[in-house]
Amino acid sequence: MAYTDTLTDLPNRRAFERLLNDRVSSGTLKPFIVGILDLDGFKPVNDAYGHAVGDDVLIEAGRRLSTQLRGVGTLARMGGDEFALIVDGRFSADDINHLALRLRSVFDEPIIVGDVIVRLSCSFGFSTYPDCSEDAGRLIDRADMALYRAKADHNGSHRIFDASYERSAIERAIIEQDLREAIRADALQIHFQPIINLTTGRLSGFEALARWTSPRLGPVSPAVFVPIAEQCGLIEAMTNSLLLKAARVATRWPSHLRLAFNMSAYQIDKPGSGLKIISILAEAGLPPHRFEAEITETAILKNVEASRVAIELIKAAGARVALDDFGTGFSSLSHVKDLPLDKIKIDRSFVDKVCTDEKIGNIVRSIIQMCECLDIECVAEGIEHDEHLAFLIKHNCTSGQGFLFSRPLPETRIPSLITEDSDSNVRIAARDRAA
Ligand code: C2E
Ligand code: MG
Ligand code: MG
Repeated sequence: MAYTDTLTDLPNRRAFERLLNDRVSSGTLKPFIVGILDLDGFKPVNDAYGHAVGDDVLIEAGRRLSTQLRGVGTLARMGGDEFALIVDGRFSADDINHLALRLRSVFDEPIIVGDVIVRLSCSFGFSTYPDCSEDAGRLIDRADMALYRAKADHNGSHRIFDASYERSAIERAIIEQDLREAIRADALQIHFQPIINLTTGRLSGFEALARWTSPRLGPVSPAVFVPIAEQCGLIEAMTNSLLLKAARVATRWPSHLRLAFNMSAYQIDKPGSGLKIISILAEAGLPPHRFEAEITETAILKNVEASRVAIELIKAAGARVALDDFGTGFSSLSHVKDLPLDKIKIDRSFVDKVCTDEKIGNIVRSIIQMCECLDIECVAEGIEHDEHLAFLIKHNCTSGQGFLFSRPLPETRIPSLITEDSDSNVRIAARDRAA
């Protein structure tokens, strides 16, 4: 009993660890591989149809996988929707590819439980003995790191452990620990980047961008720490406190200037998220009409219905909603059609090439025209050069943002910028270009 998983009748984690220990301590150095696999698409099934269906799916998945491995290796259930395997022999990368494909093919046929049809896939991480490690625990950890990488790259794939995975896993762990402490100590900061109305050349507001310096790693980009905060459950606490700070700063600006703030996928798809945002604005004293939520399509895709509820609530309160990083990821015109957007932000990877790549120039022109037809604002991100600006103005892009105008700045630099804007009535000088 102590070594059997009661649900699937497979060896359990303890049995698997013992098996591995026996092998590595035999002293023969006979090669084998360790694989950890995780079912893609299991969690939504469990959430939607309940645990009884989920259990049957796990039993069937285990049965199919172990049948496929019969006579070749051993399968164990590690817990949840995670399984592990050992296969004897020296494997080349090609051999491992074949094995992964063969195992994954057991999910070509859907799993049917009652009248529920479940389509699954799986991701694998592999480590090899003795090359990756001669230690049983470390073989599992390293297969796990490879699995993490496989899932991060895309579901339904596999990776073989590589030393660089360990470095990034260690870095991730440091970031997580330091970030936890930084959030507790309220040590995150915000910089503000001007958004310029390209028709008038005047400031229309600022985008708040999180800034953080890890005591051990130095400055870490939000593109790195935001996803980590999302994965380890820190995102809500983090962004709620950042939003409160940013909104308080914005209350001190002239009332025609708006605050744009990036919403995390994890903030937008929770019930009550829209209300929470509105209540934070109220706490800070920033009228909702001066607030703009920036949401990426990837965030919306995580849960289209929940996102719609949050977006409609934010809109009903009088705030605006912008679709961020348009053109990257899984862009879909259905979001543009179905969601009540006020603004689309063209990703800077496009803006960067408007003058050098004719096709991209045409795409950007079309996005601008689409916004014009829909009567919504169009913001070009990442304007770095005069030629970018000239192109965008020529094609009637309504707003712009980028290093050409200014880098993101600390709060203390904002008042002089605002004064300059109202004094000179010209677009902000490229003074901060090299700041
Ligand atoms: P984003 O929302 O698309 O923000 C624009 C990014 O482009 C910022 O990077 C900004 O510094 C950078 N940028 C602006 N102008 C230029 C330019 O002319 N050239 C170049 N090369 N870059 C420019 P940053 O600050 O590193 O932020 C990266 C991403 O992290 C943001 O992309 C946003 O998705 C996310 N992020 C930042 N702050 C927060 C936050 O408080 N909450 C959440 N959830 N996400 C945040
Ligand atoms: Mg943004
Ligand atoms: Mg963006």
